[in-house]
Amino acid sequence: MNKKIFRGTMFVALSVLFASVILTLGILLDFFERQIQSELKNEAAYIAHAIESQGISFLDSLNSTDKHITLFSPSGEIIAEAQDDGRTRNDRTDLDDVKQALESGTGMSHSYSGTRTEKTTYYAIKLTDGNVLRVSTTQYSAITILLGLIQPLILVFVFAFAISSILAYRISNSIVKPINALNLNNPVASDDTYEELSPLLHKISAQKRTIERRIKEAQRKQEEFRLITENMSEGFITTDEVGNILTYNHSALRLLNVSGVVCENILTLNKAQEFREAVLSALGGERSERNMLLDDRIYSLIANPVAENGKLIGSIIIILDITETFRQELLRREFTSNVSHELKTPLTSISGFAEILKTGATDNETVVDFSKSIYDEAQRLITLVSDIIKLSELDEGSIEFDRTDVDLFALSEEIISRLTPSAERADIKLLLRGESTTVSGVRKILDEMIYNLCDNAIKYNKKGGTVEVSVKSDGTTAIVSVRDTGIGIPQAELARVFERFYRVDKSHSKEVGGTGLGLSIVKHGAIYHNAQISLDSKSGEGTVITITFSK
Ligand code: ADP
Repeated sequence: MNKKIFRGTMFVALSVLFASVILTLGILLDFFERQIQSELKNEAAYIAHAIESQGISFLDSLNSTDKHITLFSPSGEIIAEAQDDGRTRNDRTDLDDVKQALESGTGMSHSYSGTRTEKTTYYAIKLTDGNVLRVSTTQYSAITILLGLIQPLILVFVFAFAISSILAYRISNSIVKPINALNLNNPVASDDTYEELSPLLHKISAQKRTIERRIKEAQRKQEEFRLITENMSEGFITTDEVGNILTYNHSALRLLNVSGVVCENILTLNKAQEFREAVLSALGGERSERNMLLDDRIYSLIANPVAENGKLIGSIIIILDITETFRQELLRREFTSNVSHELKTPLTSISGFAEILKTGATDNETVVDFSKSIYDEAQRLITLVSDIIKLSELDEGSIEFDRTDVDLFALSEEIISRLTPSAERADIKLLLRGESTTVSGVRKILDEMIYNLCDNAIKYNKKGGTVEVSVKSDGTTAIVSVRDTGIGIPQAELARVFERFYRVDKSHSKEVGGTGLGLSIVKHGAIYHNAQISLDSKSGEGTVITITFSK
């Protein structure tokens, strides 16, 4: 802007100067021309008057004149001539001015020297006797005058250029200074600026407010988006149409095991075939879903193309960790297949016995034996179904159990008295130690937990062995432990005995009426009560299972 004003000012100044010089010169030359003509006319009139009164001899007295004087006859012949100092030219032969004078009384004409450096002006006047008097004078032509003035004119131009430059520089600076000093953060508050800028400043101020509002709105939305995506446990990546990453959340980096800031092509994040296929499919405009195994975890990839006005502009990739869901689904399937299997075995036996019985061809003793087997299998089924129900109640958390204060010592005493007949049958001694200890819990579930532990301790004991239940409290915790002197659990199996339907020795478990769900029920009961389970066992020596409740 500064330069533009400077150039504009210089242009105006120099144009005005140039025009002024040209005009002034034109006016001056015109003025001198008129002056010469007027002088020529006056002198011609004077000489004409003198010739008419004094006769032609008057011309002889005009030797020192700077004009060239000629007297022509009406036919154009020279009658007399008064020479000047030789500078005035009189070589004009067409006699235009003389002819004009003969016609109208006076006449004027001009001629230039061969180099056009001089101009001769002729003035002719007709005398009363019919002769024509011509007076001529020679002066420098306008071109010669101009050429003579070139040097001073150049000096004037240089001087004017210098002055104009300085002034234009100052003017442009003084014009631009208040504009440069504008406070664009608060344009309306700029007092010392041009009045004419006021509407513009108000417009800028309004636009600034609008832009600030929009920026805040955009920042708020971006923050909202960031908060949403950052708090997502799912990974989230957006890309442009060629796969360059635009946004991502930290879950995406965590799930894909990438560290640091990412600003490259999405395909460089992971080399897995499924990941590549999902991304390329989305970038090709097709939605796709794939599962991917990475570092022992299973991820679900959902890749969506993003289009605007029918044109693909990018993709959104969502990464979900489905390991738990996958494992649970696997467990559920395993459980269903185990349940079916466990139910099928007793039902097949029952069906087999009933089939033989219905023929009526069995003797009384066999009928009694078969009936006992059918009863035993039916009891197994009832126990199994009841264990499954208990487990599913604990599993789904669908049932709201009432919590009460339960004395674990009294409860254990009651369970032991219930189990005494079966313990006696197996020649096992049941002992209870400890003191009254109360926890807040669900009596029914606590009963099932302690019952299952004691029942196992009897079932997997040795003839003449003991089962010792101890209940104690240390103020912050209540501890129930069941110790037996039984067959124990091999070290390698310890981690698995809490799994559903897992038995160390399947046939022994069946023999003693086990379902493979007892310890699962204990585990889920403990989870329900926020209690910890510990298991210590030695093959052939015995087992201790301890449940620690926090009070
Ligand atoms: P089950 O109905 O077969 O007893 P559990 O879930 O209660 O099923 O126990 C799982 C397995 O753990 C049992 O089959 C048994 O092999 C082993 N087990 C449980 N308790 C004991 C124990 N006190 N002593 C030895 N083995 C045990």
